[in-house]
Amino acid sequence: MTVIYKKVALIGLGLIAGSIAHAIRRAGLAETISGYARSAETRDIAREIGLCDVVCDTAAEAVKDADLVILAVPVGAMATVAQEIGPHLKAGATLSDVGSVKASVIKNVAPFVPEGVHFIPAHPLAGTEHSGPRSGFAELFDNRWCILVPVEDSDNNALVDLRKFWEALGANVEIMDAQHHDLVLAVTSHAPHLIAYTMVGVADDLRRVTDKEVINFSAAGFRDFTRIAASDPTMWRDVFLNNKEATLEILGRFTEELFDLQRAIRGGDGDYLHNYFTRTRAIRRGIIDAGQDTDAPNFGRDLTKES
Ligand code: NAP
Repeated sequence: MTVIYKKVALIGLGLIAGSIAHAIRRAGLAETISGYARSAETRDIAREIGLCDVVCDTAAEAVKDADLVILAVPVGAMATVAQEIGPHLKAGATLSDVGSVKASVIKNVAPFVPEGVHFIPAHPLAGTEHSGPRSGFAELFDNRWCILVPVEDSDNNALVDLRKFWEALGANVEIMDAQHHDLVLAVTSHAPHLIAYTMVGVADDLRRVTDKEVINFSAAGFRDFTRIAASDPTMWRDVFLNNKEATLEILGRFTEELFDLQRAIRGGDGDYLHNYFTRTRAIRRGIIDAGQDTDAPNFGRDLTKES
């Protein structure tokens, strides 16, 4: 148990901030956790469940004297929040965030970071389809990756401390530049979410298949898309609006591959399909070998409870 930052301020009190608060306490990484969220309702819930030591009614109050400030709001709200807290940040403090897109967050937040404050953006690659102050849990970051994206003049000591902090929250840390981060995430997260949203949307449109059939027979694959497509609409709207280029690049490639697969199906090219699916199966194997998912059939669901 080593205190890395005496006071940590969390701006936004949803899934990610809540999980950070729980994991800070699990590891004893701070003496005080302060928090702020936009709505009185969220602040009240946070107080009721003791999410932070103190929940403030303004962001400015929450960041006062904080050694680490983490912006955990949707990507589209980062600039507003940064502008609000900028003048109240302590000299020598570290300002970080957890936004799912990095280049646009850096562009929008950097202008409001005062001299003497260390700005080190971050992105923990961990989440669930749940949101809000009650959805966080201490284990969320365990054995997941957190990518730190230092800006041009990020202070090295501040970077070392933030790295220690994320490791103590349970994560493995990697350092990357913003453009590369946004491309990697377009492949591993953003495009897959859009495809899941589309697939669930398509099923909703298929009138010859009734809603009841879609729901009852969903275990055949569809429901794994529905989990992803149940993710927070505000967060995901902001992700696509802010990672336009990389997402469109990956979706372009996706469309081309989809056409190739369609052609193979139409032409009865079994070899093409078989080779393609053999390649994708190997990628799944790699994810399991890296400890990023379970090898248990059906993602470890209890099959005795399946109908
Ligand atoms: P969440 O559960 O929906 O929580 C968002 C929080 O931000 C809420 O407390 C909300 O307050 C607050 N908020 C929204 N607009 C605000 C504003 N203008 N000023 C102050 N507070 C504001 O979201 P989350 O899943 O924790 O996501 C937070 C960030 O983490 C996002 O940038 C997202 O891209 C990133 N991220 C998410 C995941 C994931 O899987 N969920 C994974 C990695 C990173 P109210 O409740 O009062 O509206």
